[in-house]
Amino acid sequence: MARLVMKFGGTSVGDIERIRTVARRVAEEAAEGHQVAVVVSAMAGETNRLVDLCRQIAPMHDAREYDVVVSTGEQVTIGLLSMALQALGVEARSWTGWQIPVRTDVAHGRARIQDIDTAELIHRMEQGQVAVVAGFQGIGETDNRITTLGRGGSDTSAVALAAALDADRCDIYTDVDGVYTTDPRIVPKARKLARITYEEMLEMASLGAKVLQTRSVEMAMKHAVRVSVRHSWPQYWAVPGTLVCSEDEIVEKEVVSGITYSRDEAKVTLSRVSDKPGVAASIFGPLAEGNINVDMIVQNVSEDGHSTDLTFTVATGDLDKAVSLLEARRDDLGYSDISSDSNVCKVSVIGVGMRSHAGVAQTMFKALANRNINIQVISTSEIKVSVLIAEEYTELAVRALHTAYGLDAA
Ligand code: ADP
Ligand code: ASP
Ligand code: MG
Repeated sequence: MARLVMKFGGTSVGDIERIRTVARRVAEEAAEGHQVAVVVSAMAGETNRLVDLCRQIAPMHDAREYDVVVSTGEQVTIGLLSMALQALGVEARSWTGWQIPVRTDVAHGRARIQDIDTAELIHRMEQGQVAVVAGFQGIGETDNRITTLGRGGSDTSAVALAAALDADRCDIYTDVDGVYTTDPRIVPKARKLARITYEEMLEMASLGAKVLQTRSVEMAMKHAVRVSVRHSWPQYWAVPGTLVCSEDEIVEKEVVSGITYSRDEAKVTLSRVSDKPGVAASIFGPLAEGNINVDMIVQNVSEDGHSTDLTFTVATGDLDKAVSLLEARRDDLGYSDISSDSNVCKVSVIGVGMRSHAGVAQTMFKALANRNINIQVISTSEIKVSVLIAEEYTELAVRALHTAYGLDAA
């Protein structure tokens, strides 16, 4: 007998028939005698619809009220799934975030979970009741208002609950049967990984593979939660998914285990910035104060040889704000021109094997050169290399790299 957390994403609870199917899967696990907590997302498309309603009312709305609205999708699915379970004769009860409670900080719209009180849930699970928990939501510790955890946040709800319950497993059911070497939607030859390390999964998630929310992987790594990514359709129930685990549980380590892309990138270039100490600080300071995350950065000598050109990337949604912040300080910063481009994409290759293998970046550069794809910016870390390219080449680049690193399925 084990204690498990099962999470079902939006497409898995996208209509009534699918909710019934989810209930059957949960009932199977409960019938094995396991203690089961289920975390669900809103029905597919519902959170987008709610976000859009907020935008229509007021583009610059109050984040606390945004959370009140967008958290409602999950309240519907916990109720429906509980009914579906009861119809199968399984004792089940729904829980919203505040009822448990799932305590978070008060960064509304992107709150972090701080603590989950599991006493009542454990008590009921021990008596055989399935707990059906709303993902994506909590309650702010200082304002007692509903919070949400950022898009894709139900993954984090599930992993956090698994950690708090000291669960034996956290199964993330979705619309693919595991984590692939790259997004199977754009590379048909993508290969399913049996296992992936927390570190690689963390890089993959933060560099664009949306199969798990980045924070859920951080949380799993910190609390050593065994996370499996699996398909929610019945024909896959017997198929093992991908286990996200620590490095010592993986015998055969690949040099490169995954390729990701992110179109949510925009590039800003400041030309002929005066080349003196403190300039970078005076450019990036205002961006940081404006809560804008800067990702890749390159600095070059300008054509005139006396000044420097500075290029950096931000999330697409932050581009207008970044440009206007810098334009407002044009006189202080002393650059001659500012330009931007949001038709760019960041493509990354990831693998723990890079620590011990040379030439990984070179393979990437060669593969892109062979396809005539120009690299605009490069950044590297211990286990990844990222390049910025024109967005129109995204799929071509990802496929070429997938082949170049020998990842294509037979
Ligand atoms: P859910 O609604 O269940 O949370 P998501 O849409 O958030 O599901 O995540 C699943 C999707 O992630 C898949 O449909 C797939 O297109 C995408 N994806 C991107 N990269 C990968 C990858 N490397 N492996 C598996 N899926 C990936
Ligand atoms: N429903 C939320 C979203 O669409 C949370 C989730 O599905 O993980 O972002
Ligand atoms: Mg998701």
